[in-house]
Amino acid sequence: MTSSTTHPQAADAHASADAGHLLAPAHRCALPGTPLAEASAGLDACVHCGFCLQACPTYVNLEDEADSPRGRLVLMRRLLDGDIPLDDPSVGTHIDRCLGCRGCETACPSGVPYGELLEATRATMATVRGRPFVARLVLGLFRRHQLLHAMLAGARLLRATGVPSLLARILPERLAFPFAMLASTAPVPELRVRGASRVPPAPGGTPAAPGAPRTATLLTGCVMDGLFGHVHDATTHALTHNGVTVRATPAQRCCGALHAHAGDLEGARALARENIAAFERTDADVIVVNSAGCGAMIKQYPHLLHSDSGWAPRAERLAARVRDVSEALVALGPVRGTRPVALRVTHDPPCHQLHAQRIAREPLAMLDAVPALTRLPLEDADQCCGAAGIYNLIEPDTSDAVLAPKLARIRATGAAFVATGNPGCLMQLGGGLMRAGASVRAVHPVELLAASYDSTAAPRS
Ligand code: SF4
Ligand code: SF4
Repeated sequence: MTSSTTHPQAADAHASADAGHLLAPAHRCALPGTPLAEASAGLDACVHCGFCLQACPTYVNLEDEADSPRGRLVLMRRLLDGDIPLDDPSVGTHIDRCLGCRGCETACPSGVPYGELLEATRATMATVRGRPFVARLVLGLFRRHQLLHAMLAGARLLRATGVPSLLARILPERLAFPFAMLASTAPVPELRVRGASRVPPAPGGTPAAPGAPRTATLLTGCVMDGLFGHVHDATTHALTHNGVTVRATPAQRCCGALHAHAGDLEGARALARENIAAFERTDADVIVVNSAGCGAMIKQYPHLLHSDSGWAPRAERLAARVRDVSEALVALGPVRGTRPVALRVTHDPPCHQLHAQRIAREPLAMLDAVPALTRLPLEDADQCCGAAGIYNLIEPDTSDAVLAPKLARIRATGAAFVATGNPGCLMQLGGGLMRAGASVRAVHPVELLAASYDSTAAPRS
C-alpha cells in the first residue's frame, strides 16, 4: 500500500543513496534558533543506507518511504533548508504518523539520534501549525496534577463497576477501545500481592552484591499511580523482598514524556524541573521506575535541559540515579521466588525500554526467577505495539495497523499472559486482546516475580 500523501521529496533519500551521494552537502539554515536547527548535527549523521527501514513499524505497515525513518529525516532536512514550508500538510502527516518508538535508532549503524530529531521537528512545526485539539487537551491535563489525580480516581471507580468491560464488548470499535483499555487495567486476582503496602516501612537488609542499592524510591507517575497501583505494590514487594528499603518521594509529577514526544518541550522542561527538585529531597540510592516510557524520559532530562546551565547538572545527577525496575532487581539478583507461578507467559518489550534505554536481558531475567513459569518466545517482539503515548488517540488508523500483527503473534504463542513493562503498552495490548475476544491478559513482569515471593516468607536479610 502506498499512501496518497507521500511527499515527493522524501523519495530523494532513496535516490541519493542509489546514486552514491552519501556525503552531506553544505546546508543553509532557514530556521535559525529553532529546536530543529539546534538538533541539525544529528541529521548529518544519516548516510541514507536504509538499514532502519525494516525496523520501522510505519514503513513496514504503510510501505511508504516518507513513512520511514530515512524518508522522515530527508523531510526534516528539507524543512531546515527552507525547501518545504513548516506548515506543509503532507510533511505534517508523515511526521505525525511516526510512533516515536525509536526502533530505527537501534538499527542505525551511524548513531542517528532519531528520537531527539523527531521531538525537535515536532516542536518546530508546532510553532506554525499548532497541535490537534485532543493532544492539547491531554497535554494540558497531564500538567494539572490534582485534576489528573481526580480523573484517574474516577476512572478507577468506573472500572470497579464493570461497565467498561460491558461497553468494550457492545460498542463499535472506535468507541469501544478506550473502555477496553480501561477494563484491561484491572488487577489479575491470582497475581495480587497480599500484605504489601504501597510504600511500607521496610526493614532494610543486606544487598545482594557490592554496589547494589540498599535504598530506593519509586517514581509513582500519573497513569501508573492512577490505574496500576497493584504494579506499584508488586514493585515495592519485590524490592523489599530483595533487601531494599523503599521510601516515598512527595511532590513528584508526571515525567513529561507525553509532552516531549508531542514537541511541547517547554511543558516537558517545566515538569522535569519539578521532578528534579522533588527527588533531590530524598537520599535514596536509586529511583526505581516501572514505566519504561517514564524511565527513558528521566534518563533524557540532561539532554532536555542541556542549555539550562542551572538545571543541566542537576538533571545529570537525577538521571544517574534512575533504574528501570528490571535493572534494579537484576542488580540485586534477584532472589528466586519460592511460590510456583505455573503460567505460560510471553514477553513484549516496550520500545522505550528496548530501544530508548537499551534494556533487553533484565526483564527476561526477572521472569526466569519465577519458579514454574514457562516463558514463550514472541516473534518480532522488538516491533512497537502502536500505543506510543497518545498516538493511539490521534493516529488511530495507523495505531490499529501496527497493533493487529502484534496481537496475532501474541495469540500464536499460546501464552495466557503477555508481560510488558509500560502502562501504554499494557493498555494497548490489554485492550486489543479484550476487543479481539482473546483470553490473554497483559501484566507487568514485576507482578509475576512479586507473586512468586510469598508475603509470609522471610525477605533477604
Ligand atoms: S539506518 Fe541510520 S544512517 Fe541508515 S538510513 Fe536509517 S537513519 Fe540513516
Ligand atoms: S521512531 Fe519508530 S515509527 Fe518513527 S521512524 Fe523510527 S522506527 Fe519508524
